[in-house]
Amino acid sequence: MDDAGQHLMYLAQALAEHTTQIFVKLDALSRAIVEDATDRIVDEALLSEVMRRRAAAEPAAMGIAIVGPDGVIRASGMESYPIGRDMSKTADFQELQREDAPNFYISKPYLSDLSVPGDYSGWTMSYARRINGANNRFNGYVLLVVDEAYLYGFYSRLVEGPGMVLGLMGKDGIIRASNAPEVIGSNVEPTIRDELAAGEGIKISPSVRTGIQRIFAYYRSSAAPLLAYVGVPVAPIYQAWLISSSVIAIALAALLATLIALGLILGRYFRNRDSLMQSMLETAQQRQEKEFLETIVNTGGLLMSVTGPDGQVVVANQALQTLFPDVDFARADASSMSRILGEPFEKIVASLPWQGVREVVLQNGAKRALSWSISPIRDKSEGVKNLVVVGLDITDRREAELAIYQSAKLVTLGEMATGIAHEINQPLATLAMAVDNIQANIESGRTDLEMVSGQLDLVSSQIDRAANIVRHMRIYGHRQGGGAQPVDPADAIEGALAIAGAQIAAEGIDIIREYGADRALVSADLLLTEQIILNLLLNARDAILEKNGSGSMSKERIRIRLMKEDPDMTAIAISDTGIGIPDAIRNKLFEPFFSTKPVGKGTGLGLSLSHGMARDMGGRLELGEVAEGAEFRLVLRHASKTVNSEKRDGDKSNCPAD
Ligand code: ADP
Repeated sequence: MDDAGQHLMYLAQALAEHTTQIFVKLDALSRAIVEDATDRIVDEALLSEVMRRRAAAEPAAMGIAIVGPDGVIRASGMESYPIGRDMSKTADFQELQREDAPNFYISKPYLSDLSVPGDYSGWTMSYARRINGANNRFNGYVLLVVDEAYLYGFYSRLVEGPGMVLGLMGKDGIIRASNAPEVIGSNVEPTIRDELAAGEGIKISPSVRTGIQRIFAYYRSSAAPLLAYVGVPVAPIYQAWLISSSVIAIALAALLATLIALGLILGRYFRNRDSLMQSMLETAQQRQEKEFLETIVNTGGLLMSVTGPDGQVVVANQALQTLFPDVDFARADASSMSRILGEPFEKIVASLPWQGVREVVLQNGAKRALSWSISPIRDKSEGVKNLVVVGLDITDRREAELAIYQSAKLVTLGEMATGIAHEINQPLATLAMAVDNIQANIESGRTDLEMVSGQLDLVSSQIDRAANIVRHMRIYGHRQGGGAQPVDPADAIEGALAIAGAQIAAEGIDIIREYGADRALVSADLLLTEQIILNLLLNARDAILEKNGSGSMSKERIRIRLMKEDPDMTAIAISDTGIGIPDAIRNKLFEPFFSTKPVGKGTGLGLSLSHGMARDMGGRLELGEVAEGAEFRLVLRHASKTVNSEKRDGDKSNCPAD
């Protein structure tokens, strides 16, 4: 019963939040119309046209009209509410004209014969906002006719289980909207008095009409004086319904999207109240967003689960269960969630909301890159009651990204070509000199074996030097990323320096390494890490050269430090004594194609791609705070703290790639 109630509660909550979202929009819309009607000098005909358009842009509002203080309609966007019609007998007028009237009034449900296409059930209610004149005098009201089916329609389509009811009721106990049309308008106040008072709860009670016993969950909307309810018959139908957990998952996704959208909409509505066109465009966009959301939930690409704070799975959608056939979801705990998420579950709980991309190894050995977003549902005392886990398999997108990284690497190598040629020329010049020396020595007829041997040592060391550069470039240019492994950050730094170090030194820039004594291995892809460091080193060099023009000044330096961050992260901090970064561009640096370098020199992709690579490895790339020059910090997770080493013995399938 507890579980059962909890599931119903999620649905009721989703419905209540959805209602909140709609009423917040209606509230903003009605305020905007009050402004249209009072602030502007417009004639009634134009006002009616504005109403018509505004109603067209808001799917929940079937029509809008303005009623004057005498109760007569003075502007209208609805044919069935013509200008001149007397509304003074309606409850809306009676309620709002009183001196102590509230600012808005939501009417009881009524049947209306507005001829509109679509899902319209005939049931409507009005949302009426009082227009206040001087001294709070009643100056008429704005009437929004609300399509009730729009309030619950999305949810009733989700749950077509037999005997299932859902809807909204007012605080007066009168059912305003429901998927069971026969109960709309009934007063259930006597049956559920306590729930109405408390606002939220679960109760078993018989249906008002049919007497069927149902488990009901109630949840209050935070912006409308309405209570959402969802009821399902007591077993056995209920049991069958419970099995179809995808219903809950979809409701949760809708809930999540609603919560996010609510914040967006509030902001947008108030910013753009005056712009009719804008609000129409936005509504269209919101619809698209909703459709998009429904599409991803329904196509099964989305991985979803709700868990308790201990990792017990309340519900997991089909896509997630299919991806992890080895996990027993009914008995899942923190360790199974760690396995699925590729990150210790306890750590996630400690840092909610949490987002990250993790590579996990599936039962069949395939590696998948999963992008997770985990948010808490908190109880009244702010404790974490549940976690909503939403994930996307981004392996394919990631492969495409890796291909981009690969080409970016080649671009960097191309940019460095002149420097590298110079780099190889140096050992060649030394070689040529040594060979000349040996030849001269032989030609002179007095072969000095000691001298020849010394020169040959020089030859051999120079060949090694050139070969080393070429070898590293070849490895670097060809190899694809190999996924996350334990990596010594110093190896990555040295790898990048093998390619760029000599060039930087040749510009008269000192390179200072501070690795510290006890460095940890990080969970990273060696090549991607090298690539990021190389980008940072070359940027640091450019910043120094830009400062000095000639590049021949002394005391310029690039400092590379390894620092432990919070207990399980290490930062590779690269700082320079270059021109520094003006405040104005600090938040643009990581944008693609942002560059202050001359055309042909900078692509503006280095930092943006590096940022992506760091994120792909579960780390981050950030700007440090320094007094002189600039500092970039690549922060990576420790390899020893990944799920890998915390797993029990022999549980091979539980090992993510890192
Ligand atoms: P690019 O180097 O091709 O311009 P990046 O994305 O690597 O592209 O860098 C973007 C911009 O960030 C640079 O043009 C420069 O203005 C700034 N920047 C990067 N690193 C530094 C640094 N160490 N010091 C000063 N500015 C920097």
